[in-house]
Amino acid sequence: MAHALNLEPSRIVWMDQVHGGTVRIVRRIGVGGVLDACDACLTTLSDVALCVRSADCLPVVLRDRQGECVSAIHAGWRGLLAGIVLNGLNTLCREICRPPEDILVSMGPSIEQRCYSVGEDVQEKFKTVYGRGARRFFRRDGQSLYFSLMGMATWQLETAGVPTPQIQPGMDCTACSAQEFFSFRSRREDGRIATFIFKDSRDSRAEVVRRILK
Ligand SMILES: [Zn+2]
Repeated sequence: MAHALNLEPSRIVWMDQVHGGTVRIVRRIGVGGVLDACDACLTTLSDVALCVRSADCLPVVLRDRQGECVSAIHAGWRGLLAGIVLNGLNTLCREICRPPEDILVSMGPSIEQRCYSVGEDVQEKFKTVYGRGARRFFRRDGQSLYFSLMGMATWQLETAGVPTPQIQPGMDCTACSAQEFFSFRSRREDGRIATFIFKDSRDSRAEVVRRILK
């Protein structure tokens, strides 16, 4: 992986992902390894790749227009409920004193709404925390209730002030494209999609790299 990114292994940061709301800031090189329990991390350091691992959950990466800071976020329904996307956005904005209007978002493949059946309790929990507006990301079909991770994440970002055109949606459903992207629900294997974001010192741009982990 380090080779594919053209970075030293010590410059690749992984998270011990726990489906919570905690964000960690990587402030020095050499932390390389795994961050303690968190589902979002960010850094202003160059050539430090932040990695989010996902199967059906939504991988989200953020960067600001000026290229000062990058962030990687792991967003399943529990994380979204805990506010992980908003926490990541707000922490990034505070770190570099920029408004949400300056933030660019890119989402990766995740399980799409038509394939993602959830329990009634999930909708109730979102209504409790985010109000009735959260209901529109649940669709009923017969006895089943289907939830849009990407819809919820997008709504939260828009509401926080990120302009819609700056939010690039994920294009593939991990359940439908299980051979291409691994899906935990449909395959029950242990692979993961790894999404990396880093500030490339060679051309001072933020690079996003996606890989299937075997
Ligand atoms: Zn699907």
